[in-house]
Amino acid sequence: MNSKCEYDVAVAGGGIAGVAAAIQAARSGARTVLIEKTVLWGGLATSGLINVYLPLCDGNGKQVSFGITEELLRASLKYGPGDIPENWQNEKNGQERKRFISVFQPAAFVLSMDEMLQEAGVDVWLDSVVCAAVTENNRITALEIENESGRIRLSAKQFIDASGSAVLARRLNMPLETTANYLSTWVLQFKDGSFDMNYGAVYGDGNPTQIFSDELLETVGLSQKKLSELEFHGISGRQVTQYIMESRRYMRAYYQYHYEKGLGDRKSLYPVKLPIMAQYRKICAIHAKTVMRDGEDWMRVPDSIGLVADWRRAGSVWEVPYSSLYSEEGPENLLFAGRCMGAVGDAWEVMRVIPSAAVTGQAAGLAAALAVQQNNISPRALEYGDLKDELYKMNIPLHFSELPLTVPENKK
Ligand SMILES: Cc1cc2nc3c(=O)[nH]c(=O)nc-3n(C[C@H](O)[C@H](O)[C@H](O)COP(=O)(O)OP(=O)(O)OC[C@H]3O[C@@H](n4cnc5c(N)ncnc54)[C@H](O)[C@@H]3O)c2cc1C
Repeated sequence: MNSKCEYDVAVAGGGIAGVAAAIQAARSGARTVLIEKTVLWGGLATSGLINVYLPLCDGNGKQVSFGITEELLRASLKYGPGDIPENWQNEKNGQERKRFISVFQPAAFVLSMDEMLQEAGVDVWLDSVVCAAVTENNRITALEIENESGRIRLSAKQFIDASGSAVLARRLNMPLETTANYLSTWVLQFKDGSFDMNYGAVYGDGNPTQIFSDELLETVGLSQKKLSELEFHGISGRQVTQYIMESRRYMRAYYQYHYEKGLGDRKSLYPVKLPIMAQYRKICAIHAKTVMRDGEDWMRVPDSIGLVADWRRAGSVWEVPYSSLYSEEGPENLLFAGRCMGAVGDAWEVMRVIPSAAVTGQAAGLAAALAVQQNNISPRALEYGDLKDELYKMNIPLHFSELPLTVPENKK
């Protein structure tokens, strides 16, 4: 097997969390490698055809998430259309209640991420699957990746699992929280003379049929009830395949139905691009030292690495604990970032989206780089004060009290 030069920090998975982690680790002086199994950065946010960068503000006119997550939001618009609402363009804490959000084009976002990674000096491997972690004395020493060259071993001092599905934790048999998902698939389609990026087919989530009428569902042997009972897990290779094949079967039924009913034909209504990742919302979460749980918005956490807002409603803000990015049960030089970090239930809903993935990614990248600088200690042994000082140097607020936020009466 080929062996490649030693890195300080190796990041598995180039989704939003992995990109943020790699950029931060490299900016903090670590020789950093980022490994991605597709050829696109962004994970679900681009390969999954997602096109809304959810809000960085609390919904009451106050920005809460800062740092690389804001850089990425702005970068998503550099090579494509879309605008940040006016009140967020030049000033913070706009009075209007329009949320600090952007609609982006996935391809444009990929180009910006190429640029940011190159500027930070990250060494990147695309089309390369992380297959295994080599361990010694409760530490990972290298990742085995597979690509056109065969199997290659990349050694590093610190590791970040940003795979979305905790692939390293699973390869190392670490305990995980898993969850079932309902089916969904999105499509970029040509419809009524233009490309319709916002058009989504979301199935079985209680608001199941953005494009599926009852009549149409019958054509594939389904009803709303049956649909809502279908459950898939993202950690089984078989189920991932079934999930994708089922969602595409329904997509075909949608076009057949429309053509048969004369609601369009193959020249006026057709799919242009399908996601190249299964659109599982949640796959698994690590058993972190601190697991974020329901009702913990507005809770002060002692080791906060930043703030995130609930994208579903205004006035719900969370402090994110550093200790939700690692588990005490696995190798001591492994951090997690993005949607596989330690959160469950309602907190998972808040943490599984693009802005939160970038917040956890940046903190994991920084922590890994600091651990390297301090004689390659375990990131679990890192003094929180050191992490905090660096985050403050980057003007990232860590507690509610540092921002002019309105805390709801029942949370005071
Ligand atoms: C249908 C749907 C709609 C959504 N809508 C929105 C929305 O509008 N706005 C929003 O903000 N969020 C939305 N989300 C959520 C959001 O896009 C993602 O959850 C978020 O981007 C997660 O980022 P991540 O980096 O943690 O993980 P991922 O996006 O899963 O990235 C993980 C990356 O790791 C790579 N990887 C995995 N395994 C390996 C391996 N073995 N080797 C190498 N690479 C590997 C993957 O290819 C991927 O690029 C939506 C999700 C779904 C499913």
